[in-house]
Amino acid sequence: MSSTKSERACMVCGIVRTYNNFIEQGCPNCDSLLSLQNSEENVHACTSPSFEGMVAVAGPEKSWVARWLRVDGFQPGMYAIKVSGRLPEEIISSLDAQGVKYRPRDGSVQD
Ligand SMILES: [Zn+2]
Repeated sequence: MSSTKSERACMVCGIVRTYNNFIEQGCPNCDSLLSLQNSEENVHACTSPSFEGMVAVAGPEKSWVARWLRVDGFQPGMYAIKVSGRLPEEIISSLDAQGVKYRPRDGSVQD
């Protein structure tokens, strides 16, 4: 169920943008952690072309969808409900070191 275009979903927050968008602007939520901007390597490592169930999040602080996706405080945009793939170990450790607990979005972790 991957997208037919060049869209990819951030594996950390689930936001969906085109590959070029990620390269040019990074992830609006996670770039301080992932440094996607101008890095093809990081965009490949931290975003996935395989995702399901896009939802529009207009006002993250109020939307039930946002709460469900755990994107409180994140930027409005299109978010994928499920993202296939896992972050590389070194990126997970680096997030951990910055106090960010990575929650895989591939459906393997249930509440
Ligand atoms: Zn992100």
